[in-house]
Amino acid sequence: MSIEVTQSAPAQVPAVYRIRVGDVLVTALSDGYVKGGEAILRNVDLDKAKALLHAAHRRPAVVEINAFVVQHAGRTMLIDSGAGGYMGRNAGFLASNLDATGIGGSDIDTVFLTHIHPDHVGGLADKVEGKARFPNAELVVSRDEYAYWMDGTRMDHVGEADRALFFECPREQLAPYRDRLRLVKDGEVFPGVTMLEAPGHTPGHAMCLINSGTESLLIWGDTVHVPEVQTACPHAGVVFDVDPQGAADTRRRVFDMVAADRLPVMGMHLGFPGLMHLDRCTEGYRLVPMPWRHIL
Ligand SMILES: [Zn+2]
Repeated sequence: MSIEVTQSAPAQVPAVYRIRVGDVLVTALSDGYVKGGEAILRNVDLDKAKALLHAAHRRPAVVEINAFVVQHAGRTMLIDSGAGGYMGRNAGFLASNLDATGIGGSDIDTVFLTHIHPDHVGGLADKVEGKARFPNAELVVSRDEYAYWMDGTRMDHVGEADRALFFECPREQLAPYRDRLRLVKDGEVFPGVTMLEAPGHTPGHAMCLINSGTESLLIWGDTVHVPEVQTACPHAGVVFDVDPQGAADTRRRVFDMVAADRLPVMGMHLGFPGLMHLDRCTEGYRLVPMPWRHIL
């Protein structure tokens, strides 16, 4: 018996997963991944990190990238936009996965950015033509975050690679939204969705808490990048943390809240669909993926 191969480069069907939180519909979309899990870790013994990743069958580790669509009260919000064309060929799949959901770029009325690192803003605009992918969307960003990365003096004092990824990329990608930018501090950013400050990874890094009826869900942004290591060792950070101690303090605070409240979380760098519970262990914490459900 022979198996007919119809594709020269086999790929997955679209990576889309939906859940309901009360009246709110949340759709997780994979943007792909970037290589280099353990290499980005800081403030953790590397042998211990490797052992944790080995035990979790995660070596070599990659950093997965997710984004989320939230639909409620006749409105549609995208949270983060993936890496677009900025971070290699294994990322930048948000646009095709969004197409598969039937949600068009022009249907999105709000884009919320958890922060403005390239793997979160890279999909906002066409990289070549510079046109907005979400032509009807207001762009909502933390005021502190915007001020930090848009500081021209700061940009002039970094190396070439950091300048391209952390300063020029957001300038290119945010440019077509200049006239519809809403800078915020905290509070409700969309019906049923509250922005919570979670600084450290970046100065204005923020999370989204969804509340509807008796149900809640926390979209915790970049609380972790290498989940198996950073839940076991909450002090472990990554090279991209602007304020490593602040990021670790925030991570502990968020972990405490999520575990104590048994609050389900979704994360930008949790394995797709990134829907998890977090339990406290004798040492650190442990992520427990929520079971897949075919019917909402
Ligand atoms: Zn990220």
